[in-house]
Amino acid sequence: MRDNPNAELIAIGTELLLGEITDTNSVFMARQLRDIGVNVFFMTTVGDNLERISSAVSDALDRAEIVLTCGGLGPTVDDMTRQAVANATDRSLEFHQHLYDDIADRFRGFGTRMTENNRQQAYLPEGARLIENPVGTAPAFVVETERGTVISLPGVPREMMYLMTGSVLPYLSGRYNLGVIVARTLRTAGVGESSLDDMIGRDLLNEGNPSVGLAAHHGCVDVRVTAKAATKEAATSLLNDMQARLVSRIGEHVFGEDEDTLESVVLQLLERYQLYVHVTEAGHTGVLSACFGGETPHLSSSSFSHPDETYRALRLQPEDMSLKDLAVAAAIAEREARKVDASLVLLSYPDLNENADVEQGSAIAVATASGTRFRVYGFGARSNLATEWLPRWGLANLWRMLRREHEDGM
Ligand code: ATP
Repeated sequence: MRDNPNAELIAIGTELLLGEITDTNSVFMARQLRDIGVNVFFMTTVGDNLERISSAVSDALDRAEIVLTCGGLGPTVDDMTRQAVANATDRSLEFHQHLYDDIADRFRGFGTRMTENNRQQAYLPEGARLIENPVGTAPAFVVETERGTVISLPGVPREMMYLMTGSVLPYLSGRYNLGVIVARTLRTAGVGESSLDDMIGRDLLNEGNPSVGLAAHHGCVDVRVTAKAATKEAATSLLNDMQARLVSRIGEHVFGEDEDTLESVVLQLLERYQLYVHVTEAGHTGVLSACFGGETPHLSSSSFSHPDETYRALRLQPEDMSLKDLAVAAAIAEREARKVDASLVLLSYPDLNENADVEQGSAIAVATASGTRFRVYGFGARSNLATEWLPRWGLANLWRMLRREHEDGM
């Protein structure tokens, strides 16, 4: 039995190349293969053309042990996968009477007459193993050759998925010694993707197993680690070693793993240390307080429709009012933080256009017992970006400050 085979995917259909449909089948198949430990190094899309399909299959067999095709198994003239696979593997097509009878039976069941072109679905490359397709008429098949294994599935997503999970994966697991792939995501905040990339370093980013990859979202960057080994235990141990190396370089930015969110991690800190936060929001009412997920005794909030209203309500002195909003936000945050354990302040102009005036963008400040951090973002309240970035910045800083005060050195 071969260990660790590689696979390639070939999606067949001119409508894919014309951009009329999206190749969701390859995405599904790639994930299924990943989950059973099969590496996919190439995916090809090819139109309904006999020579091109056949050369795509042949090229893939030069590189990979397993070649999976999808599409082109129907009864019409543009369904050429059977012939192309036969050509690529130097076989002829064989007629299977029982397949023909099954298809005819199915048509009788539907109450429709089978047309003569359905006959071509009863042909398979010589020596192919049939994969029964109880959910459609197009028979799928496997051709085992010296050069590798070709597996052809229909293009209809429902049929492909059914056959992939019910037949192909068990077949591959029986035929090959497959490894196990495990993955973990380290979630970071408060650091940009390029800085993180730099801190992690080329040596770790270039490692093949475990592999390390970055994915940036608004205000957070995920570091995904994927390891492959013969058993789950061995793969997890590789993963743990890589995680330890990563944490030694970027640990101060890692707030959690996998399903953790900044919101959930901050809330856990508040609950663990019985801390209370006050949120003051103007312009963007609810943006910050909503992060704490509904009612929690650890959060109190005041909302205002406009920064001027905040100043009046908080009875700020005229000298405070003359300060820029950034300094006012910081001053409010500090003042509120004296009453509770931490304070978040967001002052935003609801009628400001994006990037209208950086000084009057959105001023956000966080204050805890140990200090205050603040920042101005150059977008007004209308920007969708504001509602993504402001809470991330606020929560990331709150998390960092609370963690430093309560957990570091423990
Ligand atoms: P059948 O004979 O059952 O139609 P087939 O193998 O001939 O099967 P195709 O004709 O290639 O399948 O595709 C059938 C339909 O399935 C397409 O019209 C398209 O809607 C969908 N489809 C095909 N390939 C893909 C793909 N790669 N990703 C998503 N959808 C696809």
